[in-house]
Amino acid sequence: MITPEILQQLAQSHGTPLFVIDHDEIRNNYRTFKQHLPRVQAYYAVKANPDPAIVRTLFDVGASFDVASMPEFNLVYEIIRDMPVKERQDWIWDKIIYANPIKANESLMELDKYKPLVTFDNLEEIIKIRQYAPNAGLALRIRVPNTGAMVELSSKFGAGPGEAVDLILEADKAGLTVEGLSFHVGSQTTNFDNFVQAINLAANIYSEALKRGYNKMNLLDIGGGFPAPYDQTVKPFSKLAQKINIELDRLFPPDIEILAEPGRFMVATAGISVAKIIGKATRDGKLCYYIDDGVYHTFSGIIFDHCQYHLESFKTGPTQICTVFGPTCDALDVISMSEELPSNLEIGDLLYSKNIGAYSGASSTWFNGFPPAKVIHLNR
Ligand SMILES: *Cc1c(COP(=O)(O)O)cnc(C)c1O
Repeated sequence: MITPEILQQLAQSHGTPLFVIDHDEIRNNYRTFKQHLPRVQAYYAVKANPDPAIVRTLFDVGASFDVASMPEFNLVYEIIRDMPVKERQDWIWDKIIYANPIKANESLMELDKYKPLVTFDNLEEIIKIRQYAPNAGLALRIRVPNTGAMVELSSKFGAGPGEAVDLILEADKAGLTVEGLSFHVGSQTTNFDNFVQAINLAANIYSEALKRGYNKMNLLDIGGGFPAPYDQTVKPFSKLAQKINIELDRLFPPDIEILAEPGRFMVATAGISVAKIIGKATRDGKLCYYIDDGVYHTFSGIIFDHCQYHLESFKTGPTQICTVFGPTCDALDVISMSEELPSNLEIGDLLYSKNIGAYSGASSTWFNGFPPAKVIHLNR
């Protein structure tokens, strides 16, 4: 448990801004995931937070990894190649899926020697894979409804249900093996029916493929999108897991391997930002605090992830609705226009923000000369 006292002590000894990662919380999230979805192997989506210490912690508890670029692949590979040789049969598939449907030729060339598992969703990609990574195994990414997800992904990736089996057969003709199907229901999906619909769509494609003579599929990758409990409106994970388990057991025999690619769910609740008030002004009658972290840094998710974060004060006092700005000179650098904070905060006082472990520090820049927040690992 990371208390406000601990956060204040950390800020005192390290300065601010800080990005605090609680590895106990990461392990708890992994255990919760496995406990409720016992049939599903979790491939942590590294893009949610690519800190190598997080990859290491998740590796140690048994996670596998979803990567989408060569740097992400190499980051994970560095850590998992120390595995005992005995456990390394088929280990690259057991431990890594390259889940970017679009891969540069150069990436495919580099990947080929690992006999990787990669996703695809169109004919051009089949041609590329045949030429540059003929040793890869394939998973067809299908397009599924993303209704009500905080971050919509279906407009960028996924084969339509009508073309799915044709693509599988094309890949087969090209001498490649389609090992199974994958999808993504959209990030921070609070509409649990998205998963139900997607699993049903996948089951239909499976049986159509069988009918048309293709019987080499043996895995289903149910993607990411598992919601983090940012607020009370997010229903418990156990409820979602129950729905998923029912559909999986109903539609996919036990010998079909089930994968998932949770990103946000593993790390969102494990990150806390601590920032310092560096300026205070009243503009148009509204109290404004300027802090030393913002949307070009740990709060980048406000822009890229459509995620709103709340700020809390260590100090108490009569509150009012305030604006909180980041430190850069860009007017875009607004963390919130309506935070309820004490009005008596002074320069040097600290604010913190919880549940900021996913899609946050990962997109930090050095814009305007301000460096990313210092990362502090606790309970490693
Ligand atoms: C981003 C992404 C994920 C992780 O999504 P979350 O919503 O963070 O769980 C998983 N798979 C793919 C292919 C992704 O692009």
